[in-house]
Amino acid sequence: MKTNGTYDVIVVGVGGMGSATVYELANRGLRVLGLERFDIPNDMGSSHGVSRIIRLAYFEDSSYVPLLRRSYERWRELEEASGESLLQVVGSLDTGKEDGEVVRGSLESCREHDLPHEPLTSAEVARRFPGCRLPEDWMGVYQPDGGFLLSERCIVNHAFAALERGADVRAREAVLKWDCTGSGVRVETSRGSYEAGSLVISAGAWTGPLVPSLDRLLTPERQVMGWFQPRRPELYTPGALPVVIGEFEEGSYYSFPVFGVPGFKIGKFHHLNEATTAEGLDRDCREEDEAALRQAVARYFPDANGPTMALKACMFTNSPDEHFIIDALPGFPNVFFAAGFSGHGFKFCSVVGEVMADLATRGETAHDISLLRLSRFESVA
Ligand SMILES: Cc1cc2nc3c(=O)[nH]c(=O)nc-3n(C[C@H](O)[C@H](O)[C@H](O)COP(=O)(O)OP(=O)(O)OC[C@H]3O[C@@H](n4cnc5c(N)ncnc54)[C@H](O)[C@@H]3O)c2cc1C
Repeated sequence: MKTNGTYDVIVVGVGGMGSATVYELANRGLRVLGLERFDIPNDMGSSHGVSRIIRLAYFEDSSYVPLLRRSYERWRELEEASGESLLQVVGSLDTGKEDGEVVRGSLESCREHDLPHEPLTSAEVARRFPGCRLPEDWMGVYQPDGGFLLSERCIVNHAFAALERGADVRAREAVLKWDCTGSGVRVETSRGSYEAGSLVISAGAWTGPLVPSLDRLLTPERQVMGWFQPRRPELYTPGALPVVIGEFEEGSYYSFPVFGVPGFKIGKFHHLNEATTAEGLDRDCREEDEAALRQAVARYFPDANGPTMALKACMFTNSPDEHFIIDALPGFPNVFFAAGFSGHGFKFCSVVGEVMADLATRGETAHDISLLRLSRFESVA
């Protein structure tokens, strides 16, 4: 069969992780092809909606902190290369009950990794950040390095930088089939076929259908982000309010000061608990979506509880333990994947690009990704 091109590495999916991987490989002088089924960037997967939180005080597991430090460095390098501001530092505030998972985990990360931080009572939170109101006996952990990334701009700039370094990047070209050949891999798309020494699969919520052996470890889940017009805008500017993670009675929420859309942005982890498929996602936003977000705005950010400015659906792709899955694909030499980012992956794209480039070229990485290996699921695989 005719081949439309031969590369060192092919990357499937040029979203958050894929754009960073294509850039990293091109930056190392490799011949790389990035294939994206929709547009670059697009609002079909997991990376749209203007902004994503980045924070060092990592309640999910303190072992992410070294990867996070590297990821900050790499975002700053991308900003330098592109001349565009992509990372806004506004501080992060992790809130909830003192013995809750968020506050405990955030404090543990700060202490273990010697991160500057301030534990704040709810009264102190109200004084420092009057846009946020917590119940009396709750607390906050303020960490000054937290902030947010402009997610679509990060993808665009990774793609630009990759193109400048000689990468071949193609949108509106879906990978339909891939397989190993004697010496590498072969990929068939909606427009042709290509060969390469190795393959990186970073297809987000579509990874399961593309890699059947991973399918049952990956559950796409519908999410909705909402933007609400503050009644007192001065309390919700970057500078007046950090990014806030809240382990509230109504569920766990994440929020951003006003930026890019004229509204205070908020989302609820696991939203309405709706498992979906990438193809079957209901992209319409309904009254109950808005209600799930507005209940937290009304109680914890009362001066932001004005008219709705925007609602957008998006997908998490959850792994069974909500840690990422990054590894070589068993049984397929030269095939590697980055998946299962479980709603907290974007901040890591820049370092994941580096990890995937290491794996695709050397089969190993110096980064500690032991928490993220596929082998932890052997008992269920
Ligand atoms: C509402 C919401 C809020 C979030 N908030 C945060 C946050 O504050 N901080 C944070 O760090 N993370 C956050 N996340 C998680 C983070 O956004 C994701 O972990 C990250 O975007 C995943 O990147 P990805 O590259 O895996 O997926 P995507 O960016 O979706 O990229 C996958 C790409 O692969 C393409 N593709 C799929 N199949 C094929 C194919 N066959 N051929 C070619 N291309 C294909 C898709 O079109 C897509 O563009 C949030 C996620 C959501 C949904």
